[in-house]
Amino acid sequence: MDEMTQRTVYVNGDYVAERDATVSIFDRGFLLADGVYEVSSVLGGKLIDFPGHMGRLNRSAAALELALPWDEEALLAIHRELIRRNALDEGMVYLQLTRGSAGDRDFHYPDADTQPTLVLFTQAKSLVDARSGREGIRVATQPDWRWARRDIKTVQLLYPAMAKMAAAAAGADDAWLVEDGMVTEGASNNAWMLTRDGALVTRELSPAILPGITRAVVMELAEALSLRIEERAFSVEEAREARECFVTSASSFVTPVIAIDDVPIGDGRPGEVARRLRAAYIEESRRRAL
Ligand code: PMP
Repeated sequence: MDEMTQRTVYVNGDYVAERDATVSIFDRGFLLADGVYEVSSVLGGKLIDFPGHMGRLNRSAAALELALPWDEEALLAIHRELIRRNALDEGMVYLQLTRGSAGDRDFHYPDADTQPTLVLFTQAKSLVDARSGREGIRVATQPDWRWARRDIKTVQLLYPAMAKMAAAAAGADDAWLVEDGMVTEGASNNAWMLTRDGALVTRELSPAILPGITRAVVMELAEALSLRIEERAFSVEEAREARECFVTSASSFVTPVIAIDDVPIGDGRPGEVARRLRAAYIEESRRRAL
C-alpha cells in the first residue's frame, strides 16, 4: 500500500499507521500459532453480528486459558474507532489475540503477568454486491487434515490455506473439507445443502467444526421461513445429488455453491433458497448492526 492508502491499525492500545505497527519476534502467535481471532463484517459503517463474534472470542480464549483483559464494550469501542479512522463503509474488521511474548521461545505458557497481544485492522471489501454471492462458487473436496479442536477459532490456518491452494489448482474457488466420507465444513465457512425433498441440512455442532456465527443467524432465518432443518453430517455423494448447496461465513454471508468437484449442483445455477436466505441475512444484519 502506498502512503495515501496506509491504514490505521490497532496494536496493544495504540492506533498507528500500518507501516509503524510492530509485534515482537518472540510473540507466541508468531512462534507457536498460540492465538485466536475473529472477523466481523461491516455494512454501512456498522458492525454485524458483533455480540456473537465477541461471545465466540471469549469461548476460544477460555478454551486456551488465554486472558482477554478487554470486555465487549471496550472491544466495541476499538472496532468503532478503527472503522471511523479508516472511513470503512463496507468490509471486515480482523481481530487477533495472542498469548504475547515472554521474551524467548518455550512451549510452556508464560506467567500470568505476560501481557497478551491484541491487534486489529480493517479490510475494505464489497460484500453485498460480491460476484460470488450473485453467481455462486465452485468447490473442490479436500481431506480434512486439520487438528481435532476446530471449534476453537485459532490462528493455525496453514492447512486451510493449503486446502484452498489445492482447490484453486483444481480450478475451484474454495475447498470443502471431508472426513470419513462426510463433509465437515468449508475451509473458511460452514457447508449446507438442500435435499431434493426440501430439508435444509448442515452439520451439527461438535469439535469437528467451527460454530459459525452466520450459521446460527441463518438457522434462525430459515426457521422463520418455515424451512425444515436437519443438523447432521452429510456425505459428498449426498451433496452432489442435492437441489442446492451453499456456504455461510461473516464475510461471504450466504454464498451459493454451484459445483462440487466439477459436478453441477441442481441446474448448475445459484439456488432459490440460497438466494432468499442471502437476502434475508443482509436485511436482518443491516437492521441489527451496531
Ligand atoms: N468454519 C470455518 C473453518 C471458518 O474459518 C469460518 C469463518 N470464520 C466459518 C466456519 C464461518 O464462521 P462465521 O460465520 O462466524 O464467520
